[in-house]
Amino acid sequence: RAKELGGNRYEVADPEADARAITRHGLTNRLPLALERGEFFIEYQPLIALEDGSIRGAEALVRWCHPVHGVLGPDRFIPLAESTGQIVPLGRWVLQAAARQARSWQSPDGGCAPHVNVNLSPMQLHHPDLVAEVARALDESGLPPASLCLEVTESALIGADEDALKPLRRIADLGVEIALDDFGTGYSNLSSLRWLPVSVLKLDRAFTRGLRHSPPDPVDSKIVEGIVSLAHGLGLTVTVEGVETRAQAEQLRALGCDTGQGWYYGRPGPPEALHKLAMADA
Ligand code: C2E
Ligand code: MG
Ligand code: MG
Ligand code: MG
Repeated sequence: RAKELGGNRYEVADPEADARAITRHGLTNRLPLALERGEFFIEYQPLIALEDGSIRGAEALVRWCHPVHGVLGPDRFIPLAESTGQIVPLGRWVLQAAARQARSWQSPDGGCAPHVNVNLSPMQLHHPDLVAEVARALDESGLPPASLCLEVTESALIGADEDALKPLRRIADLGVEIALDDFGTGYSNLSSLRWLPVSVLKLDRAFTRGLRHSPPDPVDSKIVEGIVSLAHGLGLTVTVEGVETRAQAEQLRALGCDTGQGWYYGRPGPPEALHKLAMADA
């Protein structure tokens, strides 16, 4: 088709790809303004103790309410924010807002203290101000460090040397929990668990998929069982993602997983929804 247009032609190899590129470009350009205008918001998804079904806390998941494109999920804009560095101010905002939110869920004496989990991008992890920003978010919100868990992905840590891990160690020293997110999706190096400053392993959905039905997939069961025993042996707790059915929840509990997250327990939603769940639970 481009040929017909003759000499002064503009080649469009794939109009759809082109449209996507334009949107991407527009989204990227708008990120700073969007943060200024308060277009981002956070949904919270419950984290459930598998043993007794009680609420342990929630994961903070950011969304963008774009004036033209509507609500966008993080997969649409986090990679863009990561590529421009805009993830640093955006991530700081998520951390501060989630810490304040979690503090408001806690009773004044901190008696009932749900956790809040916040995702960190690789670029935030390597930013020199990270430790100070975490300390500041705790300080300003009054959230106890033990009520905050930072989720970092395996791929962000693979190949990290001792220097690169120092900030994480200092954050762990503050009493903040560190979780290894999406565990098992990268090139898992099980021996790295020996020296990474993590206390929680978040098993990716890929592992729990085979446990959705009764009877569960025997190979997936064995794999989960093995990972759980390894994690527990190293003093880590195990959270499982993508719990969608009751059968799965029961399997995962029987296999020794500690905490579950997924549609079976609750989809990500506004903070009020989580508050109600927690109150009903107490
Ligand atoms: P993640 O940290 O692995 O978060 C879990 C994702 O799984 C969420 O997708 C959640 O909505 C989805 N999910 C939860 N339960 C189920 C289930 O039962 N079945 C299925 N099929 N999916 C389930 P979401 O909200 O689209 O977030 C995608 C990713 O974006 C997150 O993956 C996280 O890596 C990233 N992300 C979200 N918020 C932030 C943030 O504030 N900062 C950074 N750096 N990344 C974020
Ligand atoms: Mg996460
Ligand atoms: Mg995850
Ligand atoms: Mg995941």
